[in-house]
Amino acid sequence: MGRLADDLFAFENSYATELEGFYVPWQGDVAPEPKIVQFNRDLALELRLDPEQLASPAGAAFFAGSEAPDGASPLAQVYAGHQFGGFSPRLGDGRALLIGELIDRHGARRDLQLKGSGRTPFSRGGDGKAVLGPVLREYLMGEAMHALGIPTSRALAAVTTGQEVMREGPQPGAVLARVAASHLRVGTFEFFAARGETDKVRQLADYAIERHYPELAAADDRYLGLLRGVSSRQAALVAQWLSVGFVHGVMNTDNMTISGETLDYGPCAFIDEYDPMAVFSSIDHQGRYAYGNQPAIAQWNLARLAETLLPLFDAEDDDEAVRLATGEIEAFPAIYEAFWLGMMRRKLGLSRGEDGDLDLVNDLHDVMAQHSVDFTLLFRGLADRLRGEGRATQALLDAPAALDPWLARWMTRLERDPRDREASADAMDRVNPVYVPRNHKVEEALQAASDTSDLEPFERLLGALERPFERRADLEEYEGGAPEDFGPYKTYCGT
Ligand code: AMP
Ligand code: MG
Repeated sequence: MGRLADDLFAFENSYATELEGFYVPWQGDVAPEPKIVQFNRDLALELRLDPEQLASPAGAAFFAGSEAPDGASPLAQVYAGHQFGGFSPRLGDGRALLIGELIDRHGARRDLQLKGSGRTPFSRGGDGKAVLGPVLREYLMGEAMHALGIPTSRALAAVTTGQEVMREGPQPGAVLARVAASHLRVGTFEFFAARGETDKVRQLADYAIERHYPELAAADDRYLGLLRGVSSRQAALVAQWLSVGFVHGVMNTDNMTISGETLDYGPCAFIDEYDPMAVFSSIDHQGRYAYGNQPAIAQWNLARLAETLLPLFDAEDDDEAVRLATGEIEAFPAIYEAFWLGMMRRKLGLSRGEDGDLDLVNDLHDVMAQHSVDFTLLFRGLADRLRGEGRATQALLDAPAALDPWLARWMTRLERDPRDREASADAMDRVNPVYVPRNHKVEEALQAASDTSDLEPFERLLGALERPFERRADLEEYEGGAPEDFGPYKTYCGT
């Protein structure tokens, strides 16, 4: 097996050098037989890496965590988190290592992390491993979200380790190499705040500002600005999630980023039929992280972030600090709604806002909920309808005439829009996907990969999801919802 060239990676290690005490230096396990299962060439090029070298056996050993290349400073990050509302004071990377940071083609700093590379001091009862199905799931979901234009961590590679890992039965052990704007979480702040280490919270906030909100560096009350910035990015992110029918599934504070990217694809799923209470995660018994609850949970999580920052605000006393924080948190619903309404207007072909749009949008959602309508097909179908094409949106409803009054209102509203119909329909096609990761297709692809090492269904599905807005005749099987016999869908955490 060859070696990776010494200059393959130009790692920077700002987390390691600027945040001592926020991590433990650590090495991955040696994998017996590392093999690349999936490799993201385009992302490698974006990161200014040499795809040929990475796609080699030496690259596979690197991705499995077995070999730390020159310049890397692998470490496990510490963090805490509220999980389903209860506080865990010490979580941390139990099966992941931050390898280093890379400056991409656009000058952006990106973390390279390996997930599934073995036990760390934060593993608690876990084995530190990951298995192929969930690794490919995260790969697929991240790439799908990216192609939908939604901020997200992305997969650089998926490798198998050659080791069996016990879950419900023996599974192929695997590692996901993922890239993120950073892995700073609300839970990272909570870890130090809970220990009363205000200086460390300030150090972390300064690091976060420099990395993600540099415009705040010289601003008045920059820590309040940080809270406002994270709130705004999370509001935009969750609005985007809802606009495509995405349910994250485990919005614990340790899975909520400071950068505003989607992170930690565990039990996530896309809805077929619109249902605000849709829940897929096997452990979310109360529906805390249901589709329609996500904005409220984001606000709840931001309140936890606000609490960690209270001592840093420019305030006369504690009461004033609490007042400032409360003001930001209470502003969240209106900020969220503005983002969401903006997205919904685009989905409905409206190029400008008018009073009354919120009612129009809400009433459409009411009809969808009452008549079990497929969310993705309906929005995509509306543009066809506008062009006068046959793909009947009514056929998506259990009572075909139920949408007619709403359609008439929408048409009247569109007549007041300055764009012509064709232009509106084309604009709608650029924001309403044809292809989202349908649960039954995801399962089919992962099962073939895990059970028979057949990657063909995975790669075909990935190919559809990489260009989600462009209907292709040979990909019709990816358009609809699950067949009846697929049954209710359940997803699992931490697998
Ligand atoms: P997650 O549900 O993936 O967000 O993980 C929550 C916490 O559990 C994090 O601290 C993870 O590092 C840890 N964790 C999840 N799975 C494992 C595992 N197999 N081994 C060790 N730690 C794990
Ligand atoms: Mg997590």
